[in-house]
Amino acid sequence: MDISPYDAIVVGSGATGGIAALTLAEQGIKVLVIEAGPQVKRHEASNHEPKSTLKRLSGVITKKHANQCQHPGYWKNNPDLYSNELKHPYDFPKKKPFLWTQGKQYGGRSLTWGGA
Ligand SMILES: Cc1cc2nc3c(=O)[nH]c(=O)nc-3n(C[C@H](O)[C@H](O)[C@H](O)COP(=O)(O)OP(=O)(O)OC[C@H]3O[C@@H](n4cnc5c(N)ncnc54)[C@H](O)[C@@H]3O)c2cc1C
Repeated sequence: MDISPYDAIVVGSGATGGIAALTLAEQGIKVLVIEAGPQVKRHEASNHEPKSTLKRLSGVITKKHANQCQHPGYWKNNPDLYSNELKHPYDFPKKKPFLWTQGKQYGGRSLTWGGA
């Protein structure tokens, strides 16, 4: 696979991808970062009450956030920072439940954590 003019491709701009890209770039390596989500402005990422509470209730009722609403952080910050589970479903063995908070935006879940 020819990835020129890049030496490396990093998929995802979260904490992991961001640090990987920085570390490689600091060595003079040409890095391409691919991100699935949009760039969210600071005021858009912030929590806004009571709007966020209404959005959270909607996320529960529509099942858009059926799993992620079980995470305590969901109730503390902007629910827009949690992926739509209907569009991005995941599976796990019934005996080994796994609660996955997904954040599909530039910066990934570092925005969610920062918000909390
Ligand atoms: C509410 C909350 C509180 C937290 N509190 C703490 C804490 O106190 N201390 C702590 O250490 N950690 C905390 N965390 C965890 C920490 O935020 C995460 O572990 C960390 O941000 C994960 O980084 P990551 O880069 O591995 O993944 P993510 O941040 O999930 O980044 C993945 C990135 O990849 C992108 N992506 C996914 N699929 C594709 C694709 N196919 N193509 C291109 N891009 C793609 C996503 O859009 C996203 O930007 C918290 C998390 C949450 C949600």
